[in-house]
Amino acid sequence: MSLGGPEEQVLRAAIVETALAMNAQGINRGKSGNVSARLRHDDFEGFLVTPTGLPYDRTAPADIVPMTVAGKRYGDRLPSSEWRFHRDIYRTRADANAIVHTHAPFATTLACHGRSIPAFHYMVAVAGGRDIRCAGYATFGTQALSDHALAALESRRACLLAHHGMIAIGPSLETALALAIEVETLAEMYWRALALGEPENLSDTEMDVVLEKFATYGQPGEAQT
Ligand SMILES: [Zn+2]
Repeated sequence: MSLGGPEEQVLRAAIVETALAMNAQGINRGKSGNVSARLRHDDFEGFLVTPTGLPYDRTAPADIVPMTVAGKRYGDRLPSSEWRFHRDIYRTRADANAIVHTHAPFATTLACHGRSIPAFHYMVAVAGGRDIRCAGYATFGTQALSDHALAALESRRACLLAHHGMIAIGPSLETALALAIEVETLAEMYWRALALGEPENLSDTEMDVVLEKFATYGQPGEAQT
């Protein structure tokens, strides 16, 4: 397969930019984590994903790996070892056009305790529900991990991965990255709040009001108040 048309070239460059931004924003370090975006053209139904084992500052748009939703890959590079959950999210979530996976320090700290983020702060609704779930542990790169992640992402746009990291999805790379940053911010605040004891959670009724407001007033990721 060729490198694709102009739209694919733009998407490849945007994936590299997002991966670099993930580290620059402090929500990921080194080569861990990965980024993908949905790709559809002609008879191709799949996604573009960062390659495995290549530092982001040495990753060129040409290194980004195209894969079909059937799991077939193209090009010389091997895809991220986590391509299975990227594939499965694109297969099952029509609302996902981009995925950001990071080992963000605070989100991962909570995930190492298997803790979901409860409704301790109203912005938890940014991920689409009353909490941000922590998916059960499975070895990285396995179908079992993908299955756990998909379950935790049900009716949500983000989840933690036990003893591993987090996933944020969105309609675009920008929104998925913004959500990953927000989840890490919430994880840090929750971790700090826990130093004074388990904080009281907002009620389901209040969280439903917030979710309704987010649905009514623009994109949740843009909510500022
Ligand atoms: Zn990972």
